[in-house]
Amino acid sequence: MSADRLVVQKYGGTSVSDAGRIKHVAERIIARVQAGDRLVVVVSAMGDTTDDLIALAQQMTDEPEAVALSGAQAGIGTDRRYGRARIHSVEPKRIKQELDVGRVVIVAGFQGITEEEDITTLGRGGSDTTAVALAAGLGAERAEIYTDVEGIYNADPRFVPEARKFPEISYEEMLELASYGAKVMHPRAVELGAVQRVPIYVASSFSDAPGTLIHGGPFMEQRNRVMAIAQDMDVARITIRGVPDRPGIAATLFEPLGENGISVDTIVQNASVERLTDLTFTVSRSDLSRALEIVKPVALEIEAPDVLADTHLAKVSIVGAGMTSAAGYAGRMFRTLFEAGINIELITTSEIRITCLIDEKQVREAVRALQKAFELEEG
Ligand code: ADP
Ligand code: MG
Repeated sequence: MSADRLVVQKYGGTSVSDAGRIKHVAERIIARVQAGDRLVVVVSAMGDTTDDLIALAQQMTDEPEAVALSGAQAGIGTDRRYGRARIHSVEPKRIKQELDVGRVVIVAGFQGITEEEDITTLGRGGSDTTAVALAAGLGAERAEIYTDVEGIYNADPRFVPEARKFPEISYEEMLELASYGAKVMHPRAVELGAVQRVPIYVASSFSDAPGTLIHGGPFMEQRNRVMAIAQDMDVARITIRGVPDRPGIAATLFEPLGENGISVDTIVQNASVERLTDLTFTVSRSDLSRALEIVKPVALEIEAPDVLADTHLAKVSIVGAGMTSAAGYAGRMFRTLFEAGINIELITTSEIRITCLIDEKQVREAVRALQKAFELEEG
């Protein structure tokens, strides 16, 4: 570790969930400062935790002095979407001042401020995103995300214990994994890291085991193959039956969803029979009731007779750079699921991902079977 470098760290909820863990985090911060690093520390927990962290850091040494800043004080500018605001600017003037006088700066990771100076909260993944945004805004060497696993694995390590840890992974691959269920990093944060070219190091807050560096390359190994599996249970499916097959209908349906901040994934429109078609798409379960409130009146308007919803499905995805440009992966995935007795309800792909919607009760089996088929197990 070179002297005097600037690093932004983030500690997740479980890493500061009790007094012992907070103390441990304080010790880690002090060790880094004593090694010569300048630190900005983003925490996703509320006020009390931050206070405890500072009190402890101060107890353990008179140097470093620590200061806690709200998102607004830290210069996290957001739009006006309360509860799910997005960061659009970072003006870390105050942070720089505090760093310049030798302080460790602790920042509340879930907050920002609008141009009108109203306080906002960032919603899911807010702290991951704040850490990466601050690292970009401050020109920090990297963002370090400390969590309850040792890094990024080729499958959720809590779901499949024999999953393997990566020393490094590309933004591109991490973005697909995060977007398709690997909640270890929020996709917003990965995207921001890619755009701003901020390397992101993910590691354990409990141990010193080497973590995973998310970066833009070059990579030691050309990975022209399936490199990881993700699963996502947060899926709800909506089917609109008997949609008239005429121009503009899809826009009429999906525009209001977008305007209400509901992201739609996996859209399938069947071939029409007698100028009527079925339209199927997925949203997250937490958005289902709002999505239905929007879709039902539109369905009435366009005289589609039926809107169906269900929440028993889950997504399982295989991800790897260069995967779909090489032949055979899709076939092998479908055969593997078939041989495990798993029915595929929907399929979507990107250049580096293939996703199948399956019964949520079969997800564990599916992930294990795919791990075997694509030789992703440890050892
Ligand atoms: P934090 O509170 O620190 O933000 P999260 O619960 O958001 O932690 O993210 C960590 C969790 O992400 C892990 O406990 C793990 O179960 C899950 N996870 C899912 N997929 C992966 C993966 N591919 N690699 C590592 N962790 C993963
Ligand atoms: Mg998290």
